[in-house]
Amino acid sequence: MRLRNKPWAKEKIAAYPQYVISNPEQYKGRWRELFRNDNPIHIEIGTGKGQFITGMAKANPHINYIGIELYESVIVSALDKLIEHDLPNLRLLNINAKDLMNVFAAGEVERIYLNFSDPWPKKRHEKRRLTYRSFLELYEQILVEEGEIHFKTDNQGLFEYSLVSFSQYGLVLTYVSLDLHRSNFVGNIMTEYEEKFAAQGNRIYRCEVKYPPKK
Ligand code: SAM
Repeated sequence: MRLRNKPWAKEKIAAYPQYVISNPEQYKGRWRELFRNDNPIHIEIGTGKGQFITGMAKANPHINYIGIELYESVIVSALDKLIEHDLPNLRLLNINAKDLMNVFAAGEVERIYLNFSDPWPKKRHEKRRLTYRSFLELYEQILVEEGEIHFKTDNQGLFEYSLVSFSQYGLVLTYVSLDLHRSNFVGNIMTEYEEKFAAQGNRIYRCEVKYPPKK
C-alpha cells in the first residue's frame, strides 16, 4: 500500500472515537457490550480503505465487524465510509495485528478475514506475513473453538505459502478457489485491491480454513 502523508488523519480519527475505538484494550472481553448484542464478531486484519468490511457490515447486520488497520493515513478512508453509512455493527481499530491479544479475550472472535495481505516475498521477511506460524498461534488465542480464517489474494506465491503454513499448523481446508471471479462462489464482496488487480486481469485466489477442535 502506497502511503500518502495525511497530517490531518490523526486529528480526524481522534474526532470519531465512537467509530475508530480509542484505547481498545478497555473492551477486551467486553466487545459485546460495545455492540449491545451477542452477535458473532468477525474481524478483518489489514482493512485498508474499508470497502470490504463496510460492504460486509451492510450485507450482514446480524454480524459484528471490526476492521483492523495499522496506518492512520489508510484507516481514515475506512472511517469516511463508516461516517457516511453509520453502521451500528462496524467498528475500526488503528492497531498492529501483533497486539491482537491486548484487545481480544480468548474465544471472543468467530472469524478472521485476511484480504490481499502484504506478500513480503523475501524469505528473510517471512515472519511478517500475516499467515506465518506465529500469527496463526495468535489468531488461535482469540478465536472460538473451530474458528475460521477466510483469505483472498491475487499473489500466487503468498497463496501457496499460506496453504502450506495453514496445513502445517493443522488447520482444516474447507473451501478453495484458484479463480474466484470465474467460480460459482456467491456473495463475494470486493476489496479495493481486488478491484484493481482483477481489472488488470489477475486471478484471485480464495480459501477458508478452520482450526481443529480442541482436545
Ligand atoms: N485489505 C485491503 C484490500 O484488499 O484492499 C488492503 C490490502 S493492503 C495490500 C494491506 C493492508 O494491511 C495495508 O493497509 C497495511 O497497512 C495493512 N497491514 C499490514 N500489516 C498489518 C498489521 N500487522 N496490522 C494491521 N494492519 C496491517
